[in-house]
Amino acid sequence: MLLILHPNTQENSPNFQQTIDYLKQLNGVEIKEHIIQGQEQKLTELYLLGNTASLNKQDIESLPAVERVIRISQEYRILGRHQDDRRLSQFEYNGVCFGQDSFHVIAGLCAVDNRQHVEQTFQALQQNGQVVARMGAYKPRTNPYSFQGHGQSCLHYVFELAGKYGIKAVTLEVTHENHIEEIDKALEETGRATGAILQIGTRNTQNFELLKAVGRQTEYPALLKRGFGITLNESLNAAEYLASEGNTKVIFCLRGMKGEFGAPHRNLVDFAHVPVIKRLTRMPVCIDPSHSVGTRDTSPDGIMDLCHATAQGVIAGANMVLVDFHPKPGEALVDGPQALLLEEMPRFLADIRIARDAYLQRKAIWESST
Ligand code: PEP
Ligand code: MN
Repeated sequence: MLLILHPNTQENSPNFQQTIDYLKQLNGVEIKEHIIQGQEQKLTELYLLGNTASLNKQDIESLPAVERVIRISQEYRILGRHQDDRRLSQFEYNGVCFGQDSFHVIAGLCAVDNRQHVEQTFQALQQNGQVVARMGAYKPRTNPYSFQGHGQSCLHYVFELAGKYGIKAVTLEVTHENHIEEIDKALEETGRATGAILQIGTRNTQNFELLKAVGRQTEYPALLKRGFGITLNESLNAAEYLASEGNTKVIFCLRGMKGEFGAPHRNLVDFAHVPVIKRLTRMPVCIDPSHSVGTRDTSPDGIMDLCHATAQGVIAGANMVLVDFHPKPGEALVDGPQALLLEEMPRFLADIRIARDAYLQRKAIWESST
């Protein structure tokens, strides 16, 4: 059972004390507190675990500090969307709002190769009005002899240049808990000119120690990729690991599923699951058409499969598109064949705008008929 307390309830207030005293004398019930510190208000949620089936919802709702009570199912306690759950599905980071109603494109290099390519990419993003970017520094590679990413050594120029071009947050994968500290240090040393979103890749979806480490810090949002060979339930539980440790700023990213049936695409595109994630959880949903489709193959209508897949995800209500661009894909050290060209950015964004508008129109049709 989830108890949402009145906003800004202080722990030393008589109302809070009276509420806690009542809850503590309930048999077989454990209380777990979860605090969400927003910019304007502090929200306290109390999770009652254990023997809660016999509790009377009205009794609990009448406690002085309690605003609302939600009966929660066992799955995804914190990030899940439970019955009668009207909790907000959004968070703000560095002035940018991420939620189930917002929309952003996270474009950039799959892997940072050199300063010039980073700068050219940020410049293109700024010219196209974009404020979030992707820049891989730590790369998990299948082959141990492949380029492993520049790691810590590129962070300073990436963050400096991001700030120069008005990028509010850079999404970058972390593969080890130490990377969180390295990113934090580099941001501090470059005057926090930008922010970071910590990406957990599909190969690490169930790296529970990494999940706990990213979950323990609450400064940086996390973008968790769906595991490419596990069930959706397992991937959503992985997201819940982040929240259970304290970090509820979690974005869930669909990136295609592994298997022969995916061919001729790199993975089987799973963007039909966008509305499913929104129904089961309160997380904003991202789609990654680059790692799903994995090629620049173009159909006879002149539209790349990658752009078709993007439109499919966006028209289904995706909140973010994570996509690889490169100024010179032939020189890219990772995933060049799937990268879009910087000069294609205006057309890519125009195409997305059509799909987003279509989604909003579809939503309006169905809202007006209920
Ligand atoms: C990536 O986005 O750079 C990446 C490696 O993705 P995934 O974990 O989905 O393979
Ligand atoms: Mn890649």
